[in-house]
Amino acid sequence: MSSPRILFWHRRDLRLADNTGLQAAVALGPAVTGVYVLDPLLITPAEELPPMAPARLWFLIDTLIELQQRWRQAGSRLLVVAGDPVELLPRLASLLDAPTLVWSRDVEPYARARDRQVAKALQADGRKLLVDWDQLLVAPELIKTGGGDPYRVYGPFLRNWRGQVERRQPSTIDAPVGFIDLESDTLEALTSGDGELGRLCAEGQRELERLQAEHGFGGMELCPCRPGEAAAFEQLTSFCASSLFAYEPDRNFPGVVGTSYLSAALSMGTVSPRQAWCAAQEMKEMARSDEQRQAIQVWEQELGWREFYQQALFHFPELAQGPYREQWRRFPWQNNNDWFLAWKNGQTGMPIIDAAMRQLNQSGWMHNRCRMIVASYLVKDLICDWRWGERAFMELEVDGDLAANNGGWQWSASSGMDPKPLRIFNPATQALKFDAEADYIRHWLPELRHVNTKDLLSGEIAALERRGYPELLVDHKQQQARFKGLYATIKT
Ligand code: FAD
Repeated sequence: MSSPRILFWHRRDLRLADNTGLQAAVALGPAVTGVYVLDPLLITPAEELPPMAPARLWFLIDTLIELQQRWRQAGSRLLVVAGDPVELLPRLASLLDAPTLVWSRDVEPYARARDRQVAKALQADGRKLLVDWDQLLVAPELIKTGGGDPYRVYGPFLRNWRGQVERRQPSTIDAPVGFIDLESDTLEALTSGDGELGRLCAEGQRELERLQAEHGFGGMELCPCRPGEAAAFEQLTSFCASSLFAYEPDRNFPGVVGTSYLSAALSMGTVSPRQAWCAAQEMKEMARSDEQRQAIQVWEQELGWREFYQQALFHFPELAQGPYREQWRRFPWQNNNDWFLAWKNGQTGMPIIDAAMRQLNQSGWMHNRCRMIVASYLVKDLICDWRWGERAFMELEVDGDLAANNGGWQWSASSGMDPKPLRIFNPATQALKFDAEADYIRHWLPELRHVNTKDLLSGEIAALERRGYPELLVDHKQQQARFKGLYATIKT
């Protein structure tokens, strides 16, 4: 008698190694089949939500294609289907006669609402579900203040989080890839035949191929994030070998290769946070100085920021709708659309801003220091609603992630949980501090390579030198004064 089929639903865990949900599925029986649903609501959602960035779609599709090969090598199949998961998953479970489905939980409001509906439909059919966390080192329910509340401030969150991670996580991971057992002959016959299942799989495969041909992203060569599980693992290994010991201070300089570029991988789950954490622990064993150990600790703190924003979104889903601080709902934004477009297209006349936005437009990725600088500039110099920037980022980023992006924008706008009341970056000072030789600026603004460093940093470029590059859109000092005046109206 054949074993009952277990259906494993991949979502933001697009890998075989160290996948806790998949391991749980495999523990239930040998006949495990993978499924990924190309959900139109995530790719081209309704008006009010941003469409998936072409860079992110490219990353997703190439990752899925690689993941399908991995499933085949492991002796089973990853079925890609297209449509509404609430309708498709119960249908697939029935067609495959799978009594049990397994998936890993998500913090995003859309995913949580969808999962509740999927679970209801499956349970109505008498199917069993096994659902737990994979994308976080510490589950959001397990991390609370002494009073039992969710954390709103990063510092105390980090202390609790680090303590729990150190207690719970192994320092190495044994993660064999070829652990999925056979039943593949029956599966092959079912999924490639003319029946309903064969039709669903063929439609999904056609949609995957269409999206691969039409994702519209042309910056693959420039993007530092590489799709697929193999590439993510390679990236993690090479970051540890070449940059982790100098992460602090190198992480601050956008012209230096000093960070891991794993943001898209962590957000799509081509690498797990446990793999990242364990790699850091292995490097600690090899560290030879306090500076090296300190650099590793700073990188761990960045993994902590990722989890801080995810637990915040989990406990306060209203963050996705607008400012965390009530008074920011009343802020009189100026919302000049021409200024916004100049910012988005890297045409503000302020070189550090334009270099950063061109990096994002062309490569799908932007350095963290620059994300903070351009976000502050949009909100506090151009006095534009931060939600415009939040959306623009999601439309462009390869690593677009609701929790991290919303958290970063609310931090920059001062509307979030960060206890500091107002934070304003001076773009010229930031450029001087973090791109002192203007290497980054010259790289992304080749038309300004001839301009001297001082003028590139300050943005005060003589008319003759500009050669078509725009004049400064606004004066930082004036706009700062205007912004502070407007802020005074909402302060109380
Ligand atoms: P590393 O420096 O190597 O850090 C390792 C990992 O830690 C990152 O891959 C990421 O998963 C996590 N991380 C690092 N910094 C942060 C942070 N401040 N907040 C949350 N997680 C962090 N990150 C995203 O993954 N997706 C986004 O959509 C996103 N939008 C942002 C928007 C704004 C306005 C700001 C200020 C920051 C945003 N970030 C976002 C955070 C950060 O800029 C990126 O995670 C980082 O630049 C990615 O580069 P890396 O992988 O080389 O990071």
